[in-house]
Amino acid sequence: MRHAQGPLLTIDLTERTASTTRIDDRLASFVGGRGLNTSLAYDRIPFDADPLGPENRLFLSTGPMQYSTTSYTGRMAATAVSPLTNGLCSSNAGGFLSRNFTGAGYAAVEITGVSDDLLAVHVREVGPDGEPDVTFEAVDDLEQAEVSAVSDRFAETHDLGPEHVACVGPAGENEVRFASVMISDTRAFGRGGLGAVLGAKGVKALTFAGDADAEIEVDWPDEAAEVHREAATSDSIMKRQGTTSVTELANEVDALPSYYFAETSFEGVEGISGDRVEEKKYEKGTCSQCAFACKLPTRDEATGVETEGPEFETVMAFGSNAGVDDVVDVMRANELCDELGMDTISCGDVVSMFLESEDEFGNADLVRSLVEQIAYREGVGDKLAEGVHRAHEEFGADDWTVKGMAFSGHDGRALNGQGLAFATANRGADHMYGEFYPYEYPLVDPDEAFDPQGLDGKPPKLVAKENRNAVLDSAVVCKFSRGTVTDDRLAALLDADYDDLQSLGARVVELERAFNNARGFDRSDDTLPYADAIDGFDAALSEYYALRGWNDDGTVPGHGDGLDPAGAAPADD
Ligand code: SF4
Repeated sequence: MRHAQGPLLTIDLTERTASTTRIDDRLASFVGGRGLNTSLAYDRIPFDADPLGPENRLFLSTGPMQYSTTSYTGRMAATAVSPLTNGLCSSNAGGFLSRNFTGAGYAAVEITGVSDDLLAVHVREVGPDGEPDVTFEAVDDLEQAEVSAVSDRFAETHDLGPEHVACVGPAGENEVRFASVMISDTRAFGRGGLGAVLGAKGVKALTFAGDADAEIEVDWPDEAAEVHREAATSDSIMKRQGTTSVTELANEVDALPSYYFAETSFEGVEGISGDRVEEKKYEKGTCSQCAFACKLPTRDEATGVETEGPEFETVMAFGSNAGVDDVVDVMRANELCDELGMDTISCGDVVSMFLESEDEFGNADLVRSLVEQIAYREGVGDKLAEGVHRAHEEFGADDWTVKGMAFSGHDGRALNGQGLAFATANRGADHMYGEFYPYEYPLVDPDEAFDPQGLDGKPPKLVAKENRNAVLDSAVVCKFSRGTVTDDRLAALLDADYDDLQSLGARVVELERAFNNARGFDRSDDTLPYADAIDGFDAALSEYYALRGWNDDGTVPGHGDGLDPAGAAPADD
């Protein structure tokens, strides 16, 4: 099986040291990306680690597909214990950093400890015998700096563009529980608050550069060129409207959360639809090497607002869920979240929760003010920065989260399989973990579609989809490759049998689950605010556990006995 190459780089911020470890056997077993990060996290983060403490570790990696020039591969994975969910969380981001990360020559980078000074950590190409080239720079001048200012600083002082930089904005420094790690200025490791993990460690930025990947030669199969060609010639509406192409469909089938989840369709949808977003798009946008180019650089000439996006989930969180019906207001919230370094979904949902408590739905000026207050933890923003799960009682609101993570769109009350996927996801209420919604709108061929209501026959498909997505996140391949990177092509690209890839995905999901079990997670966490309204929810959950070989209480057999439930990860040299 193809896998990422290079050693593990460990950066100890407390000691200000860097060291490398050969992890060849582990790479052969877990490929790269989320799989590699998860196996390392399972073995190296104490199960009782404080998410914002020095013992938590943040892992960054790419996978073998980053050595190709194939579309859908300009992405990376990040993993740590989440300060939002308190469980292990992997997040995925596009942009242009992945090739510079592989250029530095490491399969993965591990960040541990804590620095008293605000630091930039500069990672350069690994030496021929594995000796690291890492420097630590105090960057007091960047304290509370916004994301674009961080990029400007390294362009000026290090001659590095934003495609070399991962950083946190003020929200990360202020430990907002849904702060992002930002890369390439506008792309985010958004879900799970990994920016707060980096900020708590005293790291403002990481930079990566080198040419180590030029040494790596891979004999790619024909499927690599086929995928690239199809990405270039596809006439998918996503190439014009990105994920917002689904907004009106979601509204039609009552899957568009609105007014802080009180409703599932929005009368103002036309003002925030994919067409409105497309009208503001001023050029094509993409990730490294990707000919599909579904990103959305947008600008409003009248107000001067310029951003990348909003994507569908931001349209939901800062649009329909906030009662806001003007796409420019959503663009402005998107721009602010990127500059301040916050997940637009969790931020938009907690803002919507506050608007409900104040009877202020639709107040776009208040939305902007709240976003800034949250990032700097000022006024009521200090409480909202804790996220919906921790703050809802104080505001008399319902807890619209799973495992502490606020819901994304594609409402599970209409799309019941997606609802089950929100419940089982190890990282909480996120649509991309199990990604069941395409089968239920449907956005897939009719023979793959499911009736959105009910759960009959869905658990086996959900298990297979969660496993497949874990493989894509390990490879690392974008999930919007659906329909192009078929199962057969994925197997060819990774030089593997598809059944073996399913097994890999299952091991990754199980390791996440076992880690979270050790932190106290069980069946009671795999639930939904509307679980009782979905016919057969409990039976489907039990079927899901049985298919995975887990206990009916949602735990992995043996997880509490110090056993490695997924098969021992090979020892590192
Ligand atoms: S499909 Fe879109 S999000 Fe995915 S890698 Fe390509 S440009 Fe990036």
